[in-house]
Amino acid sequence: MRRTTGIHHVTSVAGTAQGNVDFYTGGLGLRLVKRTVNFDDPGTWHLYYGDRSGSPGTLITFFPWQGIPGGRPGVGETAATAYAVPVRALENWADSLGVEREPTERFGDPVLSLRDTDGSSIEIVGEDPSSGEDPSPDAEAGIRGFHSVTLAVAQPDPTARLLTGILGYESIGEENGRLRFAVPGPGPGRIVDLVRPEDSVAARLGSGSVHHVAFRARDDEEQAGFREELRGAGIDVTPVRDRQYFHSIYFREPGGVLFEIATDPPGMLIDEPLETLGTELQLPPWYESARERIEAALPPIETTA
Ligand code: ZN
Repeated sequence: MRRTTGIHHVTSVAGTAQGNVDFYTGGLGLRLVKRTVNFDDPGTWHLYYGDRSGSPGTLITFFPWQGIPGGRPGVGETAATAYAVPVRALENWADSLGVEREPTERFGDPVLSLRDTDGSSIEIVGEDPSSGEDPSPDAEAGIRGFHSVTLAVAQPDPTARLLTGILGYESIGEENGRLRFAVPGPGPGRIVDLVRPEDSVAARLGSGSVHHVAFRARDDEEQAGFREELRGAGIDVTPVRDRQYFHSIYFREPGGVLFEIATDPPGMLIDEPLETLGTELQLPPWYESARERIEAALPPIETTA
């Protein structure tokens, strides 16, 4: 059976680039693995953060749109992005991120809730090491990758059907109105939660909003299979777009959340080596001739790492 292996990446909107870099590298300890531009708007950064090699399941990417108004939370969007850490490290995480509220418990795991520089809802979930897979030695107490995303929708059923149908998720529980879905297997980012806010006002995109969530396809062929199935279900899905590091299709799930299906290959190492990943502006071939102009227009960013 065709099924996704989980979250490929999450893409969000930031206000300023430098604040974003500081939070995701300094605060969360992720690596800035790619500095490129928004392929649809090359005057804007597109910054990728992840594990050392920028693996799917660890990638969060941002379009910092200087001066964009704040987003309004609501239905039809990804309401929270959660990372997994070893449970023994949760207290240290609370200290280092300055989270004063005690962790809440969700499906048996403690969860810290915080906001990034732009107000985006971030969660840190403490997991029992036995339930996590392959923590890399350099990140023993660090972020292993995504735990989950939480989608806010007015009517959970149609979204649930898409997850359990075409994407291959399994329904694994319900707690306080929160529906949990997962795909089996190792690796990060296997959970999607659905919540139905009391107030069903539609979300408005702005800084601090998640723009879309991408799910993994192993290769182009599997992606084509997903695309056929989506079309067959009457869902309006884009043609395949070349995102340089993966190939993408986009569609709105029935609850209004923008979904993408992205291929695992070719990956972040296609245009620069592991050692220097994310240190220089990378442009797709079709923008190379405009490099000087593009580089001059981007606000400067600095990393301390
Ligand atoms: Zn994307």
